[in-house]
Amino acid sequence: MVNIMSEALENKSILLIISGGIAAYKSLELIRLLRKSGATVRCILTQGGSQFVTPFSVSALSEHPVYSDLWSLKDESEMGHIRLSREADLIVIAPASANIIAKMAHGLADDLASTTLLAANKPILIAPAMNVAMWHNPATQHNIKTLTDRGIRFIGPDEGAMACGEFGLGRMSEPEDIFKAIQSFFFDRPLKGLKAIITSGPTFEAIDPVRFLGNRSSGKQGHAIASALEKAGAHVTLISGPVSIPAPANVTTIAVESAQDMLKACEAALPADIAICAAAVSDWRALEPQASKIKKSGTPPALNLIENPDILQTLSKHSKRPHLVVGFAAETENLMDNARAKLIKKSCDWILANDVAAHAIFGSDETHLHLICTNNAQDWGVMSKTNAANRLTQEIISHFG
Ligand code: C5P
Repeated sequence: MVNIMSEALENKSILLIISGGIAAYKSLELIRLLRKSGATVRCILTQGGSQFVTPFSVSALSEHPVYSDLWSLKDESEMGHIRLSREADLIVIAPASANIIAKMAHGLADDLASTTLLAANKPILIAPAMNVAMWHNPATQHNIKTLTDRGIRFIGPDEGAMACGEFGLGRMSEPEDIFKAIQSFFFDRPLKGLKAIITSGPTFEAIDPVRFLGNRSSGKQGHAIASALEKAGAHVTLISGPVSIPAPANVTTIAVESAQDMLKACEAALPADIAICAAAVSDWRALEPQASKIKKSGTPPALNLIENPDILQTLSKHSKRPHLVVGFAAETENLMDNARAKLIKKSCDWILANDVAAHAIFGSDETHLHLICTNNAQDWGVMSKTNAANRLTQEIISHFG
């Protein structure tokens, strides 16, 4: 696979804010990767951050002085907090503690890092790192949503063993992954040259010419993904069941009704680099759909069903298998276990698991997704379907980077 972003960071300026957390040691590696790729890196170390890494290491690796004190005359005369953010092309917070995330969400400015963030007029990328209970705390989740809605980008956190001995979501993403997310931020239309197939909406399975089996899928998520991938430069074929939302601009949209037709259209669109199956495909169809309308006769007719082909699984096992195959899983319980089982059963690369226990996802503008891969999981929190599509696009760009 070619690296489509090798020169994306040449002459770019990154302001890296290192807040308090054991993951701060990983930020040293991030600085090294950024410097190696030609970026200028200036660092702010919060008081908490300086408990985990020394200003000396940060300064040696970044080859610039480290800034840490809002009230330091030396720091302010060398590079005031306003200039620190103005001169950066991108601000990255890694690790971002629950505290700094909360301060940002509420507009607090009581140290150099938070003041710089409040004064910032540049894009911000956050790599959270905290204990699993702190991550799941509704206060943190609410703050994440506030920041996501403001257009702030997130990478991670990942799932895994924690320094505190607990296990779960909250680990900072690996430096290489944060680095790739930074690269993809700077790369213009990074998916140019790649072809994506997206399924979206429900399927309608005919019982007779006027009646069908269907579901309430709106197509909002699949259409948002098609649009986000197109904006990132991919050539997108959207294969959609019957929906009432408009087809996205600059996307080849193929309207289908049944699961069988959706599968045929997907296979006809191969080869592709990416396949994302966001459609809510009907699991069954009528065994013998009638050619004319079934008459009411006083006795309800028997409806014999037959299982539909699994489009996701067929694409995953296809001789022309796309390089990256992504499925969705709506779960009401044991979200992670069920989604992992689905990942294996359907042989796809990623599952976006939808937590439908707490929220009505169908038709809603919001969603709560977890990205599950063979050896990693991320909780994206509650966000709009458009933001979820952007987040998925960011992950895909990193994957191909
Ligand atoms: O098996 P389940 O319906 O829970 O799996 C959901 C995932 O599988 C979704 O990505 C959906 O688009 C896909 N799927 C499919 N064809 C089917 C059933 C589900 O592509 N017949």
